[in-house]
Amino acid sequence: MTQGNFIIPKTLAMLCLASIVVLTQGQITPPPPENIAKNLQTDPETLSQASIDYGHIAHANASAVFEPASVNDIIELIKYSNSIEKPFTIAARGQGHSVDGQAMAQNGVVVNMTHLGDFRNGSGIIVSDQYVDVGGEQIWIDVLHETLKRGLTPLSWTDYLYLSVGGTLSNAGISGQTFRFGPQISNVLELDVVTGKGELITCSAGKNSEAFYAVLGGLGQYGIITRARIALGLAPSRVKWLRLIYTDFSAFSADQEHLISLNGTNAADYVEGLLILNKPPLDLSFFPESDQPRISSLITKYGIVYTIELVKYYDPNSQAKVEEEVANLLKELKFVPTFSFEKDASYEEFLDRVHATELVLRPKGLWEVPHPWLNLFIPKSRISDFNEGVIKSIILNQNISAEVFILYPMNRNKWNDNMSAVIPDEDVFYTVGLLHSTEIDKVGVVKAQNQQILQFFKNAGIQIREYLAPHKTHEEWVQHFGSKWDLIQKRKDEFDPKKLLSPGQGIFN
Ligand code: FAD
Repeated sequence: MTQGNFIIPKTLAMLCLASIVVLTQGQITPPPPENIAKNLQTDPETLSQASIDYGHIAHANASAVFEPASVNDIIELIKYSNSIEKPFTIAARGQGHSVDGQAMAQNGVVVNMTHLGDFRNGSGIIVSDQYVDVGGEQIWIDVLHETLKRGLTPLSWTDYLYLSVGGTLSNAGISGQTFRFGPQISNVLELDVVTGKGELITCSAGKNSEAFYAVLGGLGQYGIITRARIALGLAPSRVKWLRLIYTDFSAFSADQEHLISLNGTNAADYVEGLLILNKPPLDLSFFPESDQPRISSLITKYGIVYTIELVKYYDPNSQAKVEEEVANLLKELKFVPTFSFEKDASYEEFLDRVHATELVLRPKGLWEVPHPWLNLFIPKSRISDFNEGVIKSIILNQNISAEVFILYPMNRNKWNDNMSAVIPDEDVFYTVGLLHSTEIDKVGVVKAQNQQILQFFKNAGIQIREYLAPHKTHEEWVQHFGSKWDLIQKRKDEFDPKKLLSPGQGIFN
């Protein structure tokens, strides 16, 4: 069976027929024409893969998984759904690293974006002098590898690089570089997007700007990103990678805020923060083995320590200079004396650090487990309330293991308010990530704690925003977007009036 310039094997053709039968029996009628049906998969294994995500909590059964061989296939699929009496919903799935079904489509069609990459034939990542054109399905680690070949690099990252470009740009894409270079959505120069009406639009701040701003941070609601043009800078080759330990929260947060207020060569290139609780699992692997006992004693004594993670990029010929710059930075900080620890690493080793952890956890069966995460943006003026009301009063008092807890500030002026992402209304705000990994029978307990934390903010009148927000009621979404809700709705009416896209977010469905 031949379609265009590639061959569909017999088994696949049979599956296509099966898919038509299932779709006819299920939600999608009339059966899609052959040019769409040929890319639909309904075999149990493919459907099962699309029904779970990194969270391992939510499940939604799609009617079919669509495997596009071209952008045009995506256009045809969306147009077809728009044209029938009972349109089906459509969710782009990048890497499925959401934690609450955001890339799923109950009774709808999941578009496996990875498949698009298989057909790009080398055109998925094209590096130019100042930017890189990247397929929406590409993963950031591959973008890093391709740009490094030219001595270039994107400036803004996420902590983990095996995420798709379309997936992170639908949220924001944040990490320790955000205070300086903005979130990943602030580093996009141009996009190709297939809207919920099936129209392919090229957009930027100067051209079709409404689509551009809608899609960035738009939770997949307005269109499927098929190409993003990302700004590049010169790549460093090495990093000084430090962790500084604090026992006093206000000293810790004041120093973080100081660090993100700096500019130019004086500034760090990356600033994050980690909370290390006196609870299992206690991961001190960053620190030299000989220092781990005294760090452990400090944690036992205080019940918690706060760690600033700070990185300065450099090239081998500027070794002496970077050491001086790091020493200058440290002079102004109030960590516990002698509790500063430094590593020297390649730029790639540093950026790809979470994958190194993944490689340790996977064989132990500790990666593919439930992840009831809570990610928040908290205004700077209320961050001490978080320490008192959440860390001390809730987290330290409950018998829930600690996992990875991160906390670091960023500057609002590096974000663009025209974009769909929502952040607190203060010049500086913190991101907090309570990144739990747990067993299935403990999910309820962790989720209850997450609710208790959210309730604390509500009761205290603290205007936080959730990041990577899990499924909410309509009312909660309206609250989440706050004064942006009318804009969010208007954009939906304009770009996806039949409300087909990314139903797993639960905003309009
Ligand atoms: P998916 O889960 O596949 O999709 C997410 C949403 O985007 C869905 O609504 C989907 O429909 C939509 N979508 C997917 N592709 C497209 C597209 N091409 N066009 C339009 N919409 C699309 N985030 C950070 O910001 N910073 C971090 O440091 C960070 N670290 C992480 C570490 C780990 C281990 C994990 C699992 C996640 C982390 N995240 C982080 C969260 C991550 O950015 C989001 O979950 C992101 O959505 C994952 O990308 P994905 O390709 O897996 O998206």
